Amino acid sequence: MTRVNVTGPPPHINSWVFDLDNTLYRADNAFFAQIVDNITKYISRYLALHRTDARILQKQYLAEYGTSLSGLMAVHGMDPADFLDYVHDVDLGFLKPDPSLYAGLDALPGKKYIFTNGSRGHAKNIGEHLGIYNLFDGVFAIEDMDYTPKPKQSAYKKFTSAFDIDPSRALMAEDTALNLQVPKAMGMTTLLVGPHENEQPNYVNGQTTDLSAWLSAIG
Ligand SMILES: [Mg+2]
Repeated sequence: MTRVNVTGPPPHINSWVFDLDNTLYRADNAFFAQIVDNITKYISRYLALHRTDARILQKQYLAEYGTSLSGLMAVHGMDPADFLDYVHDVDLGFLKPDPSLYAGLDALPGKKYIFTNGSRGHAKNIGEHLGIYNLFDGVFAIEDMDYTPKPKQSAYKKFTSAFDIDPSRALMAEDTALNLQVPKAMGMTTLLVGPHENEQPNYVNGQTTDLSAWLSAIG
């Protein structure tokens, strides 16, 4: 397996692509539980369902459509904007500015992007809490994918064409291994942010448990 060179930034990379949740910061379980709970509340209100039935539908759409949102749009013709504002309205009190992440990102040669299945508002909110938002040249969020999320190929195609990114000169960092399969096939270098496993999928080039540490090691 090809490994990412850890003695300096890979010289051919000019685009640095970062997933948001659990890649640029670590969310605790309570944080995601709030979002999941907000989705349930929204579905319950929107479709006038008991919470238990709303939760069942939420899981069913997640499994069938990749996100609960996609299912709600496809089946019920729901307008996504109000939903996205509602579900991402969570307590970010646990998030503090991350100076070492800032320094690591700032030192990267080339352009930097956030590529998230969350909303634009969520990316801005998190990015500003971390104090890193102004470092990015672009944000590509669920609205920009026409609500068809990673790992669907269309999301990556729209992203690379929106910012004129040459995949062979891009590195993508993600905590969800499956989301690295398409970018690897497109020619990107891939970095998995998460716990070490004995065996990584062959579409993972490098792996780190700590993105800040990885950035400072290559910087
Ligand atoms: Mg993630």
